[in-house]
Amino acid sequence: MATKRDQQVIAIEEHYFDPELTQHFSSADEVPSGLRQRLEDVGELRLREMDEAGIDIQVLSHAPPGTQRLDPDSASLLATGVNDRLASIIKTNPQRFAGLASLPTPDAAAAADELERCVNQLGFKGAIIHGLTNGTFFDDKKFWPIFERAASLDVPIYIHPALPHPAVVDTYYQDYLTDYPGLETAAWGFTVETATAAIRIVLSGVLEKYPGIKIILGHLGEGIPFLLWRIDHALSRPGNKSLSFRDVFSEHFYVTTSGNFSDPALLCSIQEMGVDRILFSVDWPFVANDPGVEWMESLHLNNEDKTKILSENAKRILHIS
Ligand code: MN
Repeated sequence: MATKRDQQVIAIEEHYFDPELTQHFSSADEVPSGLRQRLEDVGELRLREMDEAGIDIQVLSHAPPGTQRLDPDSASLLATGVNDRLASIIKTNPQRFAGLASLPTPDAAAAADELERCVNQLGFKGAIIHGLTNGTFFDDKKFWPIFERAASLDVPIYIHPALPHPAVVDTYYQDYLTDYPGLETAAWGFTVETATAAIRIVLSGVLEKYPGIKIILGHLGEGIPFLLWRIDHALSRPGNKSLSFRDVFSEHFYVTTSGNFSDPALLCSIQEMGVDRILFSVDWPFVANDPGVEWMESLHLNNEDKTKILSENAKRILHIS
């Protein structure tokens, strides 16, 4: 299976539900049934929809909130099982599936150890973090051991959205949620939360401390490529600590096309970050596969750069052979 141009297609932000973990968050029950069926399917239906669209490999990650909103003990206990079960799923179809680890960030030391176990023993390609860990952004110093371990293992950390902090929802979105529930999630709330998480990671100094860190953002960079000049310029004004935001961001961050199949947004991302830092993703099953692959096929972009986006960059950054 491949696109019409016979290009291999690797999609790296593709989600599933672990049956044991989903019992620990009530939002799983609110997922519409068609979506839930796809999240729970790690076989026939998933593979059929991959085949129909021409997607060769899905890098699987748990859907939000993953293991970020549990107490420390339950998080570590559950994450081990979640990752072991994901490893078994990948074993059923190693040519079609790869995995990103769910880390028990409520216990940061355990999360760093679990990342190492997942990479060295289970063959995972990196880790995914969903939003705030019990109200705390991921740049907090207590999480730095996870960054350190990721850098030493040379695997990326995918910073993925989850429902925004309740105080933010109340102040920013509540008035419109009855008519537009999407406002607090993919329409805007996810973007604000995840862009903020990314900006804070740059400001924290963790990337200077562990220079090998690679961070991946979905949705063509959560708006940051579009705003990079302005963020950089404003943070260079008097009164701010010395920092080249644009340089640090561009050195450590990668972006994927998940759920944002927009020509102008992609063009901006290529101009700002370079084509070597852009990876194809769909965000299945929240977004359907076909529109993503069809968009890539119709893009007025040279074949060499398209191949980089569709597979080569993922192979290099996630060490997929
Ligand atoms: Mn996603």
